[in-house]
Amino acid sequence: MLLNLTELTPDVRASMLAEFEAELAGATPFYPARLTPAGRDRWPDLLREAISNHDDEWLMEALLEDGLIVGFEMSASARSGVKSVNVRSAAQTMAMSEFNTWYVRGLSAMLLTEGIVTVRVYRAGMPKWSVAGCDVHDGQVVETQVMYEGHRARYWPTRTNVFAIPYQPNCHHSIQRV
Ligand SMILES: [Zn+2]
Repeated sequence: MLLNLTELTPDVRASMLAEFEAELAGATPFYPARLTPAGRDRWPDLLREAISNHDDEWLMEALLEDGLIVGFEMSASARSGVKSVNVRSAAQTMAMSEFNTWYVRGLSAMLLTEGIVTVRVYRAGMPKWSVAGCDVHDGQVVETQVMYEGHRARYWPTRTNVFAIPYQPNCHHSIQRV
């Protein structure tokens, strides 16, 4: 596992899958921007398989299959044109963030059905460099309902006044029982 997710049980996996299927069936399912068209085609099945039987590290390896992640991007300066992307790093960030997003959503949903109204944010892994604005969340106790509704809200669709875990790209925080 890339992140130490402490309650990846069959029940939590089932809840994650139900939440993922609900988003896919909705009007605007989220697809990571770095996926190629082939990557978008494979994405739902890769996520289903990772959620049901594996973990974030398996998802990263699956994403490294040829042609699923865009290998080039436009450079910031117009003169230098396109530059190559570190595909392994892109796959790792995408897999860690997406799997954790569904873990937080699925676990929150399950805890709500158990009547558990608060959860604790914890550091599930050590980033190579700390991301600004992230450290303050260590150990924070938040309402389970807020965690459930904060799902992707900071970037899809964008509502910047919402609290969400993962908090931002490369965030290594997740949630657990208090
Ligand atoms: Zn964080």
